[in-house]
Amino acid sequence: MNRSSILIIYTGGTIGMKEDPVDSTLKPFDFSQILESVPELGKFACKIDSYTFNPLIDSSDVEPSIWQSIARLIRDRYDEYDGFVVLHGTDTMSYSASALSFMLNSLSKPVVFTGSQLPIGKPRTDGRENLVSSVEIAAAKDEQGNALVPEVCVFFDSHLYRANRSTKVNSENFDAFNSPNFPPLAEAGINIKYYDVLIRKPQNWYERLTVNEELDTRVSILKIHPGITAQVVRNILCGPETRAVILETYGSGNSLTKDWFIDIVREASAMDKILVNVTQCLGGTVNMDLYATGKPLKDAGVISGYDSTTESALAKLFVLMGRYSDNDKVRAALLEDLRGEISR
Ligand code: ASP
Repeated sequence: MNRSSILIIYTGGTIGMKEDPVDSTLKPFDFSQILESVPELGKFACKIDSYTFNPLIDSSDVEPSIWQSIARLIRDRYDEYDGFVVLHGTDTMSYSASALSFMLNSLSKPVVFTGSQLPIGKPRTDGRENLVSSVEIAAAKDEQGNALVPEVCVFFDSHLYRANRSTKVNSENFDAFNSPNFPPLAEAGINIKYYDVLIRKPQNWYERLTVNEELDTRVSILKIHPGITAQVVRNILCGPETRAVILETYGSGNSLTKDWFIDIVREASAMDKILVNVTQCLGGTVNMDLYATGKPLKDAGVISGYDSTTESALAKLFVLMGRYSDNDKVRAALLEDLRGEISR
């Protein structure tokens, strides 16, 4: 079998940061210092190249234009590599990885996002293990030479998650990510165990990779909470700048049933706004038929986001709205499971 080749795409994040001697804040440094800190990478029987973003960013500053750059880079270098590892800050990793999962069509190679909670230069860093395992996963192939995980995923603290199912759940523990509505795709212990039945495979391994480059970002997120006012709800749902709103509701998709609230939701629907219901709960799904507090939303034109994470719903909307100018087409595609992001 040919030696695998991997492209590491370094965008920034804690993994590559070091302390600024002047103000003691963490700032990004260059990739050669990452390589020096991880000599284990040299022991792999695969060729490893790197691409460094300029400027490197703390992922709190990530923009859709960076997702477009990552997607274009993967498309342009696709034939040269067997897999891609994206080094990214943890704060918005699930947003970026979800976006890439919808932007890349006919993916047949792994795209593994990873990062760390402690910079790679620190003695107790989690970055070394995250990076080394991500490279191993990105290079892993079966006997036919096909990638074991031809998906966009997030590797963190021994677990490989489907990107659009992942979410950051802890700001300081090493197990910072989880995938509450879908089991991990692989686990790293002494060996890496791949759960093959859970991993999505392309229909045609040889189809050309294409990119949905167009993103329409006119989306707002409204988190329902006790004491929310009509003015706030109206500004967000009916604002001229929004084409779609993600409603983060309680439990299985419930919201307040006050007349003023449902009237504003109806008003937004009449304005052709795309309204998607996701739950504030970490796990579980939206079912607007279950309670009398969910049904009025459905009747007012809100569509179910099922068990989608907010990050995935946002990314899916950006991509679908970039693709279709007709909001009904967007609504229809939202209900479909496009990349394993919802269970229906
Ligand atoms: N603020 C950092 C970032 O997201 C945090 C991290 O990487 O863990 O870039």
